[in-house]
Amino acid sequence: MRVSLLILAFLSALPLSAQEQSVRYEASHDAMGTEFTVVAYGRDAKYLGEVANEVFAEIDRLDAQMSNYRAESEISALNRDAARRAVIVEPALFALIQDSLRYSRETDGAFDITVGPLMRAWGFFRGQGRVPTHAELAEVLERIGYRHVHLDAERREVRFDREGVELDLGGIAKGYAVDRAVEILRENGVTAALVSSGTSSLYALGAPPGEQGWKVNIRDPFEAGRAGDVVWLKNYSLSASGSYERFFTFEGKTYAHIIDPRTGHPVENMLSSAVLAPRATQSDALSTAFFVLGPQASRIYLATHPNLAVVFNQPAPARQTFRRVILRSTSFSPPPGSLAEISPP
Ligand code: AMP
Ligand code: MG
Repeated sequence: MRVSLLILAFLSALPLSAQEQSVRYEASHDAMGTEFTVVAYGRDAKYLGEVANEVFAEIDRLDAQMSNYRAESEISALNRDAARRAVIVEPALFALIQDSLRYSRETDGAFDITVGPLMRAWGFFRGQGRVPTHAELAEVLERIGYRHVHLDAERREVRFDREGVELDLGGIAKGYAVDRAVEILRENGVTAALVSSGTSSLYALGAPPGEQGWKVNIRDPFEAGRAGDVVWLKNYSLSASGSYERFFTFEGKTYAHIIDPRTGHPVENMLSSAVLAPRATQSDALSTAFFVLGPQASRIYLATHPNLAVVFNQPAPARQTFRRVILRSTSFSPPPGSLAEISPP
């Protein structure tokens, strides 16, 4: 009796809820040195606000855990101790470090979370950019390389095989935070939302009412306000790495904040790379990796990894001009219910 009543109540509620207008809710929150934004559609703005607060609390927790700007973070403690003893790491962070090392192996070391000391040598952590001497760079390079990081999955332990190795999750953490945010939205029944971490990563959950997907612009590499390519996304992510993000100029040369860990030098000849992938952790790591690899080497990766697309903007000879290269995985068929399309501006 009770059961059938519940079913009746549910059935009669259906047509009503379908008729009801959905509201648009938007909120932003500063974390990880950027601004996270949630745009969501639903029936009740107050409810969406509560879910967004839960999302932002989780992002703050991740920031406090993964920041290497905070001495008390789990990552800072790991960086201090792991050369001397194996350090046990929280399960989700351990999995993210595992993932990061896998991206290193798959990209021939182009993506490498041990770049921290190089970032400091080039002055990208706090303060002014600078060009290190050859001797300094040679010394720093001895401490760079994902092969210096050893994992024991059973014990969830991380160990470095020499002093001075450091982990820097700056190339993957914002995408990971976006994925966590989307999990929380889904768990709470939100079916249409766009979550972004500044200009770095975003995930398009479902689609706005009456739309096929979320329309997102990839910015022009020279002018923030000018739109470049247009991307349509549904249940898909997009991440961008750009030399416009953080860079410095010294004696007429511009140095980008993305470093080729194999040479120790900031990447040249690349303005931006934007990657479409099923998950934001993946698009974030790969936008950084492809920025380092460039189109030619990225093609090799795309031949064996499905459902990825990348838009490169490379500097062209004339001032303030660029060359656009779009590549897709050899096997590109986003699953039913998702959308990942690039159309010219
Ligand atoms: P993104 O904007 O996602 O490309 O990340 C850039 C950030 O990742 C930098 O600010 C560094 O903290 C870090 N990073 C720089 N170069 C690399 C690299 N080759 N692999 C992994 N992380 C890097
Ligand atoms: Mg990245």
